Amino acid sequence: MILDGKQIAQTIRAELREQVAALTANGLRAPKLAIVIVGNNPASETYVNNKIKACAEVGIDAVKIAYPAEITEQTLLNEIHRLNNDDSIDGFIVQLPLPEHINETQVLSTIDYRKDVDGLTPENVGRTVQGLPSIISATPRGIRELLARYEIATEGKHVVVIGRSNIVGKPIAMLLMQRPYLSLPGLSAASLGDATVTVCHSKTRDLKAICLTADIIIVAAGCPNLLTVDMVREGVTVIDVGINRIDDPAAPKGYRLVGDVDFANVAPKAAYITPVPGGVGPMTIVSLLQNTLQAYNEHSLPQGHDL
Ligand code: NAD
Repeated sequence: MILDGKQIAQTIRAELREQVAALTANGLRAPKLAIVIVGNNPASETYVNNKIKACAEVGIDAVKIAYPAEITEQTLLNEIHRLNNDDSIDGFIVQLPLPEHINETQVLSTIDYRKDVDGLTPENVGRTVQGLPSIISATPRGIRELLARYEIATEGKHVVVIGRSNIVGKPIAMLLMQRPYLSLPGLSAASLGDATVTVCHSKTRDLKAICLTADIIIVAAGCPNLLTVDMVREGVTVIDVGINRIDDPAAPKGYRLVGDVDFANVAPKAAYITPVPGGVGPMTIVSLLQNTLQAYNEHSLPQGHDL
């Protein structure tokens, strides 16, 4: 069965639209997201424009704050302090990557975790690790939501995560191994968490043997055809996070997007599998909207209060 991220994301957008409309119908202001972009990396521009469009579709106000690539780190940090203290902004993100002269870690660490709707600040990551309420980064949140909506329970399952990045591999491993008391607002009751998780990476020996013991495989490596049919058991669930451009002279743009999984051969053996595109990607964008609404709902709490 195909896990249709595009369809589920559309359903969630409709739910969000209703929730935002209910707020404004009650005389409250709409949630507001700010997106800081530095320089003019074309891919970043596209991502930012897509995020702004997605916000508009559900009634979230979105403002783009653009700076030239030459901006000093201090000016950017000042802007982050300003956004941290601006009560009209519920959440904001700094689009990555940043120019080389700016210290990304320093920038992320400066964002108030209550407004960190990308879920990348050390506070949010640490709170997630400790099972405290937190804002979870968009892709892991989207994967979890996709599993929940299809009622794919993870309790007691062996989940193999391929990739150990801060934005996907590490947080999804952490979420799925947690006790499920750390529930996200709006998630269905499916038992998510309580899995036995193995994290694999570029130095892992005998990836195939490990994958052959998996009930669920989450691949986030950025390598086309990394997961092949001989590496999976019958009935496995496969979540393909990878987005890779491969040349295709027959395609209108001269390339097409593929994931990390040999989809054509793995799909017939899998109980559930995400396509690329149309799987995890749309869930990631909608998660940012959910995180913004979450930050809005928690915004009025006093400083230092546990969310
Ligand atoms: P990354 O690119 O920072 O790192 C890749 C990870 O994969 C590393 O931890 C590395 O150890 C591991 N890896 C690489 N080759 C491997 C191999 N042969 N065997 C085992 N492990 C290997 O990771 P990322 O930022 O999480 O991105 C991974 C992929 O997911 C990329 O294609 C990226 O474009 C995509 N991505 C998609 C979404 C989405 O919304 N669908 C979101 C984020 C990232």
